[in-house]
Amino acid sequence: MIRPLIERYREYLPIEPGDPVVSINEGSTPLIEAPAVSERVGARVLLKFEGLNPTGSFKDRGMTMAVSKAKARGAQAVICASTGNTAASAAAYAARAGMRGAVIVPQGNIAVGKLAQSLIYGARVISLDGNFDDALVIVRHLADNFPIELVNSVNPYRIEGQKTGAFELIEELDGPPDALAIPVGNAGNVTAYWKGFTEWDTSPLLYGAQAAGAAPLVIGEPVERPETIASAIRIGKPARGDEALTAFDESGGRVRSVTDEEILEAYAFLASREGVFCEPSSAASVAGLFVHGIEPDSDAPTPETIVCVLTGNGLKDPDTALAASEGVIECSTDLSEVEEAVFGDRPA
Ligand SMILES: *Cc1c(COP(=O)(O)O)cnc(C)c1O
Repeated sequence: MIRPLIERYREYLPIEPGDPVVSINEGSTPLIEAPAVSERVGARVLLKFEGLNPTGSFKDRGMTMAVSKAKARGAQAVICASTGNTAASAAAYAARAGMRGAVIVPQGNIAVGKLAQSLIYGARVISLDGNFDDALVIVRHLADNFPIELVNSVNPYRIEGQKTGAFELIEELDGPPDALAIPVGNAGNVTAYWKGFTEWDTSPLLYGAQAAGAAPLVIGEPVERPETIASAIRIGKPARGDEALTAFDESGGRVRSVTDEEILEAYAFLASREGVFCEPSSAASVAGLFVHGIEPDSDAPTPETIVCVLTGNGLKDPDTALAASEGVIECSTDLSEVEEAVFGDRPA
C-alpha cells in the first residue's frame, strides 16, 4: 500500500511528532521506461509520472506538507494564486483537513479540468482579471493582513514536500540519474528537486525547460506578458528564479526554451508512442531534450540515464488534446462505411 509521503520520508521533513498529517496518499509515483524517447535522444530516458498523484500533479507533494503545517498552527483557511494545479491541490487538501480554501486564478487562462477540480473540492474560486504574477502579489497581501495561510511555493513547506521526488528517484535507480529534465514555471519544483538531491549528497545535471513566450530565466529578465499554450508554466516573474539559476549552475546543467510547437510535438509523441498522456507543460521537459540534445553546457560527461519529470496529467486539459489531434470520424451504421472508416485512408 502507498504510504503518505510524510510517513515515508518523515525523518527528512520538518514535521513534529504531534503534527497532524493531512494526506491523500500522494507521492510514490511510477518511474516509466521510455524506449521511443530514448531511441530519439540517444540515452536511456525514464518518465517520472507525477500526473498520477491524487489530484493529478506534483503539487500534492508540497501541499500535504503545507496544509499539515497550517493545520498544526491552527489555521482555519488556506489561499493561493495558481495557474490551476496548485489551486486544485490546495482545494483538495483543504477539504481533507476540514479547512476553507480560496484560490485565485488568472481569468480565461486555466485548463478546464483544473477549474472543475477546484470547484468540486469546495474551494472558493476567484477568477482574476490579470495574470499569475498579479495574482501572487494579491494573495501575498491577503496572507499578510488576514488569518489565512499562504500555500504558494513561496511557502517553505511546499519545497520540503516536493524534494521527496528526488528521494524516490535515488531509491528507485539505486542512485541519482545522470540528468533530470524538468519544466520551469515559478521555479519551485526545480529548486525542490535540487534540495532533495543535495541533501542526499547527489548532484545530477539539471536540464530546465521554459516555454519560449515565458522564458525569463533564459533571457535573463522578467517577462511582462508571458504567453504559451503550456498554461502551468505561463509565468513571467518566477518567485524562485534566483535559486533555480544557482541550482542549474551548480549542477553543471542548463535552462533552455522551447516553442509551443515543439512542446505540442513532444506532448503528442509521448501519448502516441509511449502511451503516456501528460500536460503540455510537462512535455516541455522532453521537448528540451528533442530540441537541444543531451549535451550539458559544462564539461561534465554526456548523461547516459535521464529522468524527465512529467509534472501533470493530460486529462486536466482535454481542450488542448482535442485541438492537437485528428478529429473523430463521423459514420453511419452502414457496414462498408464503417470498414472504410477503420481500415481506409483518413479522410482529409
Ligand atoms: C506547477 C507546474 C509546473 C511548474 O512548476 P514550478 O514549480 O512552478 O516551476 C509545471 N508543470 C505543471 C503541470 C505544473 O502544475
